[in-house]
Amino acid sequence: MKIMRQNRLFNRTRLKFAAWYTGVMGVILSGFGVAVYLHLAQSHFSAIDSEIETVAGTLHDSLEPVLQQPGQLDARVKQILPGLCMGDAPCQVPVQSPHIHVLGLDKQEPYYVKFVNLSSTLLATVNTPPQTNIAPQGESWQTITDPQGQRYHQFSLLIKTATGQPWGYLQVGRSLSGYDSHLDSLKVFLLLGLPIAMLLVGGASWWLAGLAMQPVYNSYQQVQQFTADAAHELRTPLAAVQATVETTLEMEHLTLPEARTTLQTIERQNQRLSQLVQDLLMLSRMDLKVLPLHRQVCCLNDLVSDLAEELSALAIAAQVLLTVEFKTAQPLYVVGDEEQLYRLATNLIVNAIQYSVAKGSVTVRLLKEDHHALIQVQDIGVGIAPSEQARIFERFYRINRDRSRKTGGAGLGLAIAQAIAKAHQGSIQVQSQLGKGSTFTVLLPLQNPRYPII
Ligand code: ADP
Repeated sequence: MKIMRQNRLFNRTRLKFAAWYTGVMGVILSGFGVAVYLHLAQSHFSAIDSEIETVAGTLHDSLEPVLQQPGQLDARVKQILPGLCMGDAPCQVPVQSPHIHVLGLDKQEPYYVKFVNLSSTLLATVNTPPQTNIAPQGESWQTITDPQGQRYHQFSLLIKTATGQPWGYLQVGRSLSGYDSHLDSLKVFLLLGLPIAMLLVGGASWWLAGLAMQPVYNSYQQVQQFTADAAHELRTPLAAVQATVETTLEMEHLTLPEARTTLQTIERQNQRLSQLVQDLLMLSRMDLKVLPLHRQVCCLNDLVSDLAEELSALAIAAQVLLTVEFKTAQPLYVVGDEEQLYRLATNLIVNAIQYSVAKGSVTVRLLKEDHHALIQVQDIGVGIAPSEQARIFERFYRINRDRSRKTGGAGLGLAIAQAIAKAHQGSIQVQSQLGKGSTFTVLLPLQNPRYPII
C-alpha cells in the first residue's frame, strides 16, 4: 500500500474510485433516508387516522340512539360524555367519564370532540378543541392549523337522531404536535446522520479502493519490471552486433577469415536474440493459455535416458559426472506435451551442470510417489540461499548477474520450466544449501489409465 501511494496515477485512480463510490453511496443512502422518512410519516399518519376513526365510530354508535331532536343535546348525552361543555367556552373535565379511555384523556394528546349543528354552529365540545373552526361537509378529513401554529387532524361525520333525521355533525380530532416533533427529530437524525455516514463511507471506500487496486498495482509493477528486463536483455546482443559491425566496417582490408569471424559473432548474438524472443513468446502464450499442448502418453524413463545421453557432452565439457537413477520397478507414464516436458527437464539439468563446481556430479532421479511421478535433479554445486529460492522462478531473475551472464542465461529457464509444470498440473520444488548444492524436484501427475487423453 505504501509504495502504491507514491504512484500518482494509482493514487488519482484510487481517489476517483473512492469519490465515485462515496457519491453513489450518498445518493443511495439519501434516497433510502427519504424513503424511510416518508414511509414512517405515512404509517404514523395512518395510525392516527384509524385511531380517530375508531373513536368517532364508537361515539357515533353510542350517541345516535339517544339523540332526539336535530341540534339538541339532552341530559343522556351528558351522561355518556360528562366532560361536555356547552358552547365554545372552556370547562373542567370530570375524571369519571365512561369515555375517558376512548377519548384518551389519560394520554398526552387526548382526542377532542365537537358537536356542530347542520348550519355549522358549534354546540358543544369535549377536551378543548382548537380555536379554528372548519365547516364540516359530510364525512371528511381536515388538517387544521390554529393561530399558535399547532396542527390538528380531525374527522367530521354526520350523525342522525334515533328516528333517522339528520342531527348535525360530530367532529373528532387530536393535536399533531407529537407527530410533528417525532418527524422533526427523525429529520434532524437523518440530516446529521447522513454526513457522518458519508464520512465513514468515504474512509471505507478509500481503504477498499486501496485493497482492490493492490493486485492491479502489483501486476502493473511486474509488467514494468518485465519490460525493463526484456529491453535490457535485448539490448546486450544488439549492442554486441553493433560493435562488431562497426569494428569490421572500420577495417580497410577485410580478409576472409576476419569476415568469417565477424559473421560468426553476429550469428551467435542473433541466435541468442532469437532464443530470447522465442522464450518470451512461449511464456506469454502460456500466460494467455493459447499455447496448444500436444497431449500424448510420455514415458518419463525414455525422456530422462534420452536427455542424459544428449547432455553428456555438456557435462563432460563442464567436468561434471552426469548419472541417472531409476527408482521405480516399472516405467512411469504421464500425459503431456513431450516437447515441453523435454524442455522442462533440459532446463533443470543444464542449470545443474552450469552451477556445479568442477569435478562435481549431477544426478537425475526418477521415482514414484502416490499418484505422481517425481523427476529429481540434484547437483553438488554453488547452492541457492533460502531468501533467493522463491525468487529464482521469477522472469529474468538471476542470483549473480555477472556470473550467470557467463553461462549465457537470461534468467528465463526456471520461469519456463515452472510454466510447463503448471500447464501439466504439476509443480517444481527446490531444496538447496548455499555452497553444498541444490535439488530441484518436478512433480507430475501420473497417467490414469481409467481416463482417456483429452
Ligand atoms: P539462467 O538462464 O540464468 O540460468 P534460470 O531461470 O534457469 O536462469 O535460473 C535463475 C537463477 O537461478 C540462475 O541465474 C541461478 O542463479 C539460479 N540457479 C538455477 N539453477 C541453479 C542450480 N542448480 N544451482 C544454483 N543456482 C541455480
